[in-house]
Amino acid sequence: MQTSLLGIEAIFFDIDGTLSDSDDQIIEEIVRRMHFLHFLWKDSHLRKFARSSISLAMTFFNSTYHVVDSLGLDNFFAKAFPHKHAQNKDDFEKDFNLIDGVEKMIAILYRHYRLGIVSARSESGVLHFLQQFSLEKYFDVVVAAQTCYYTKPFPHPLLYAAEQVKVLPEKCLMVGDTIVDILAGKAAGMKTIGVLSGFGTLKELRRAAADFILISPAELVTLLNQNFG
Ligand SMILES: [Mg+2]
Repeated sequence: MQTSLLGIEAIFFDIDGTLSDSDDQIIEEIVRRMHFLHFLWKDSHLRKFARSSISLAMTFFNSTYHVVDSLGLDNFFAKAFPHKHAQNKDDFEKDFNLIDGVEKMIAILYRHYRLGIVSARSESGVLHFLQQFSLEKYFDVVVAAQTCYYTKPFPHPLLYAAEQVKVLPEKCLMVGDTIVDILAGKAAGMKTIGVLSGFGTLKELRRAAADFILISPAELVTLLNQNFG
């Protein structure tokens, strides 16, 4: 183990692409809507195209969002158009799927660590996800898009979560599927784990210098097992 996770006392999770495979649901929806191109491309090609397009769009969005966020404009938009935001999120909150092994992983880690959610979703979206799978009881802190003034990749939501569970940032671990999660974790002085169950690619997560990269979040139990096993 190149970086020790021995002193870890708290673990914070992103939701989309990390605990929920909502990213895959987005891809499937795009493939469904692009079905008129079926005569040109097979579904597998459409899926590949959709995934790389979204990955590119997200990289652009993240860098743009960084500017928007640093100016505090996202909060302005959220407050100026609350109905639009609410409607979009309600549409998006219908069907969550849990990534295989996540429920068991959370139930095990809960016995050894303080756990938290740090998501860019609305508070209602996060609660909807937790309630759908009865996961609320496992999390000591829940940070949603509007909890802090700045969102990921800024460290603020993570530092807020650490403060709430009363654990020093260097004893916290951030788990997420995109570079935004890794950058936020590093900026907060935390250990980071990238998971390949979402939009982030191995190349991107490596470039962001995640301390560990796992195929699936369920592998966390094995990785941390030597700490509590
Ligand atoms: Mg994510």
